[in-house]
Amino acid sequence: MPEQTTDESTFTAGRPRHAEYVDNPVNAAMARVLDDVRREDHPGAVADYIPELAKADPEQFGIASVSVTGRSYGAGDYRTPFSIQSMSKPFVYALALQHLGADAVGERIGVEPSGEAFNAISFDQSGRPENPLINAGAIVSTSLTPGDDGAERFAHIQAGLSAFAGRDLEVDDAVYRSESGTAFRNLALAALAKSTDALRVPIEDALDPYIRQCSLLVDAHDVAVMGATLAYGGLNPITGVRVVDAAVARHTLSVMTGCGMYDRSGAWMCSVGIPAKSGVGGGIVAAAPGEYGIGVFSPPLDEAGNSARGVAVLQRLSSEFGLHLLNRPMTPVSAVESVSADPASGRVTLRVRGELDFVAVEQVVHEALSAGQAQSCTTMVLDLTDATRVSTVSAYLINQLAADIGYGVRLSITDPSGLLADPVR
Ligand code: GLN
Repeated sequence: MPEQTTDESTFTAGRPRHAEYVDNPVNAAMARVLDDVRREDHPGAVADYIPELAKADPEQFGIASVSVTGRSYGAGDYRTPFSIQSMSKPFVYALALQHLGADAVGERIGVEPSGEAFNAISFDQSGRPENPLINAGAIVSTSLTPGDDGAERFAHIQAGLSAFAGRDLEVDDAVYRSESGTAFRNLALAALAKSTDALRVPIEDALDPYIRQCSLLVDAHDVAVMGATLAYGGLNPITGVRVVDAAVARHTLSVMTGCGMYDRSGAWMCSVGIPAKSGVGGGIVAAAPGEYGIGVFSPPLDEAGNSARGVAVLQRLSSEFGLHLLNRPMTPVSAVESVSADPASGRVTLRVRGELDFVAVEQVVHEALSAGQAQSCTTMVLDLTDATRVSTVSAYLINQLAADIGYGVRLSITDPSGLLADPVR
């Protein structure tokens, strides 16, 4: 019997209740979490300030996840289309970072959680929006994507967000027209940004593509793929296309960690702990670095404007599946696969495996130094055949080890893939 580490009330052993999902235990577990949240009371109201959004069916509820290895799971209404709305913001911000670099973007938009609502008049003393993930900052992000006018900018954004999703995303014209006709507050935010030079293009050339980007249709699965692409360092794990650089993906996830859930970003980090962004269409995108992208869809919003059931389902998923970012393993898997000694030849072989980051190589160095003290050891073989990646600090430490192992021991390295010669940061 495997050790029971999850909440017993949810995952008691026995026959799954969801016969339709028994094809895969992960789908069954997600369906069960969805059902549990559906039975609870999470008060919320469908957004109505964009008239078209008021038509959404409040009962719709779906969840999807995509691993960085490209495996997809889903439960409920995860194939139902809805408008991406503010979930577009981190992805468009990433496109701006990719185009101009973090320094140039940073001159025009900060990276601070503003602790304010999505449509707040939120600028620092110089007139620069502080938070890229609420409207004031997001409209400036849109203005920083490549293009000579609004149409060119939107074409770039549509192509970029489609690459994140791994399929061609289309605008919902009804949502676009509905928001265009009522976007007075966003017009005011754009005008304020223009008045301080944070916005350096004509207002319409930022506002129109911004409203179009918010109207792109996605489903929870698309959103999960988009999240997985950020979680996988900017590489879409389904299509294999690199959408943005790893540094851009990490910067974007950093901002999502602190700013993604409006004025509930702090509470979100404590209770869910996964970089995320919500939208008034009822979607939430979450990206657990190196693990999963998750997409959730349920239209009724809580007081902060986040999907009420969406927040609840991600809270449950995080605690029951153990997905909190700071939930690091307390006992890391040892990077040392085996240590074997051949006293006759004086060789000790240390076979190491997996990604050799600092934590892993500290273990390797420690084992190598203690094995090297054995009387009979004259040659230490460090076998990297099963290693998959060597970071720069690890390469440095292994080279130091070769120079300093001491005790008259010689270090010989077996590195068939040449990882040491080409370390990654
Ligand atoms: N299109 C919406 C707006 O700009 C997006 C807001 C949101 O999803 N929070 O008002």
